[in-house]
Amino acid sequence: MRSRVLMLVMMVMAGAGTVGSAQGVAPFAFGGRDIAPGTRAEIDLPVSRGSSDPETVIPVTVFHGARPGPRLVITAGVHGYEFPPILAAQQLLTRIDPAQLAGTVILVRLAHVLAFEHRTPFVNPFDRKNLNRVFPGRADGTQSERIAHVLSTQVISRADLHVELHSGDGAEWLEPFVGFYGGTLARRQEAAARRMALSFGLPNMVRYAMESEEQIDTNRSLNRQAVSEGVPTILVEIGENGRRDEAFVTRIVDGVGNLLRALDMQAGPVAMTATSPRQYSSTAEAVATTTGIFTPVAVQGRAVSRGDLIGTVTDYAGQVRERIVSPVDGYVLYGITGPPVRAGDAVVTIGVTGTAE
Ligand SMILES: [Zn+2]
Repeated sequence: MRSRVLMLVMMVMAGAGTVGSAQGVAPFAFGGRDIAPGTRAEIDLPVSRGSSDPETVIPVTVFHGARPGPRLVITAGVHGYEFPPILAAQQLLTRIDPAQLAGTVILVRLAHVLAFEHRTPFVNPFDRKNLNRVFPGRADGTQSERIAHVLSTQVISRADLHVELHSGDGAEWLEPFVGFYGGTLARRQEAAARRMALSFGLPNMVRYAMESEEQIDTNRSLNRQAVSEGVPTILVEIGENGRRDEAFVTRIVDGVGNLLRALDMQAGPVAMTATSPRQYSSTAEAVATTTGIFTPVAVQGRAVSRGDLIGTVTDYAGQVRERIVSPVDGYVLYGITGPPVRAGDAVVTIGVTGTAE
């Protein structure tokens, strides 16, 4: 009788998260919850009110696998007008079964809720800052900085691996590409990041080489926050122009599925890409120096040579004020469709050809 009571106590303790489960996987503590192995939890991470802007939340789903494995953080919606990653995160809710999962997936379904709800491209609707330039953020900052602080301290700090999902934003075309972070300051993470990048099977792959602390710190992105934490990290870019095409969403969902199989987190065959991607060792920008109406020439998704015309800027009286040309030989990955352009805007970003390894 006594031993049965002891067993019961031990089972209750296991259910309460103080003892490992039968499979040897401990519960996962996240957002004030203890998530049992083989289960999932929906958690809204609170972001406090600021002195000049409102409170918000970051909706997260944690899939805590029944078997041991890596802890993968997937982030969607850092830019609230880039809809395919946000819709892909919704589909992933039913695609990842924690009972069949090895390891843990922390899925940030929508990092920037108010930018999404306000349909605000690029920036936060209150502080007008680009969330993806203010990491690691501040607990007492403006809303973008407070969101960045929560993502840095409660999400990225928990990651073994990180995937950041983006699209072309409003009035921004984009060729699908994947970027992985390497270089001197991400040397130990680079090989893992490169393998993760390849599993998305995209036609273009950029190596972002991190060579100085200043480079990581200046206008720090979420990917570079992961670099600073020693986490292998990749950037996936699929979709464009603020559109919500199902084909974009499917491509993201399929890529994440293939990544989970490649990482042995989910069972099943790993699809290998038929052709190797075009590889770039860096990127370069063509920048407008005048403000007005931008008319691009048809450079989307093709090779350009240094000096090739990228587009023109006319003033509001119809006079051509600037002819913007490519500063390098390379392949045009993304750019603005216009028509508005401001002096200082990058009108295209060009992958500079080189082996991305
Ligand atoms: Zn973005």
